[in-house]
Amino acid sequence: MNKVILLHRRPAGKPVLNDFKFTSESIPAPQIGEILLKTLYVSVDPYLRGRMNDSKSYIPAFELDKPIQSGIIAEVVDSNNAGFQKGEFVLGNLAWKEFQISDGKGLSKIEADDSELTPHLGILGMTGLTAYLGLTEIGIPKPGETLVVSGAAGAVGSVVGQIGKILGCKVVGITGSDEKVELLKSKFKFDNAINYKKNHDLLKAIQLACPKGVDIYFDNVGGVISDAVLANINKHARLPVCGAISLYNETSMPIGPRIQPIILTKSATMRGFIVGDFSEKFPAANKQLATWLKQGKLTYSETIIYGFRNIPQAFINLFDGKNEGKMIVKV
Ligand code: NAP
Repeated sequence: MNKVILLHRRPAGKPVLNDFKFTSESIPAPQIGEILLKTLYVSVDPYLRGRMNDSKSYIPAFELDKPIQSGIIAEVVDSNNAGFQKGEFVLGNLAWKEFQISDGKGLSKIEADDSELTPHLGILGMTGLTAYLGLTEIGIPKPGETLVVSGAAGAVGSVVGQIGKILGCKVVGITGSDEKVELLKSKFKFDNAINYKKNHDLLKAIQLACPKGVDIYFDNVGGVISDAVLANINKHARLPVCGAISLYNETSMPIGPRIQPIILTKSATMRGFIVGDFSEKFPAANKQLATWLKQGKLTYSETIIYGFRNIPQAFINLFDGKNEGKMIVKV
């Protein structure tokens, strides 16, 4: 039988396992023009939390008692479509099912060995593109500037910081544990890193880590961390707003400092973006990321959780900071 994971009920606050339902169905056979896909790797991402709410957004909400979807790498195990051969690997926005039928639309082929597939969900995929395009298009880094990144040890944040270093910035990361602080400094070569769970005066900690002030703030988390960074920005600062994970589970939106005076007096630019806003730049961005990776200028971390049944728990773990780099489930 084919295992499937459905959204059983809309989470109230932080998601729990009972928000998901496991079910099974028979493994379908591909009709003419169709292929049968076997799920290999599942990307779990913070943005999926927004799709679990019953609200209008840039992407439709998941329906109750229907399979959840996310970025998935799958193998073609049967093909009735001339465009796909058995044994090929594909990437697409697919359902949380062990096996599924596709007509091939929206899938991209991955020309890589089995051992080199997972970066296509991270540094060579959506999160790498988000890091590169958010930083270069909105952050517009210049050598010598100070770049602060929140969610710094995650999939997007760890790449943002490394690109900042390549482009000549001083890079300071904000993250949630001493182990991650160490990882940022040793593996990802950040100049400095702050554990936001230990530093109760975050505003002061940022001031100390950034004596020349903050020129670019790449915001992955929002909330009180971002309030503290904002208080330290320089004239003409740029603030790409990439994510707000600290607020995704709020049931009523907390009110923070009024930010208009600081944005005004610092002539700062704060701009939200969805990576798809830059879709025409994906090929060039992917090429640059792949080149830096090959040259050893970029590296990445992955947290791999094993087993189809652990997909919901892996997703929940994002909100407890249990990942270093990209969170992926190997089915
Ligand atoms: P990630 O950073 O790999 O994983 C989430 C991390 O967020 C956790 O490891 C945790 O790290 C941190 N976190 C969780 N709860 C937090 C809280 N209350 N306060 C502060 N930090 C918290 O995830 P990602 O895929 O790279 O995504 C990062 C952000 O970018 C998310 O907000 C996501 O929605 C956004 N995003 C946006 C786009 C776009 O197109 N705009 C695309 C991809 C991702 P700690 O241990 O440091 O707390």
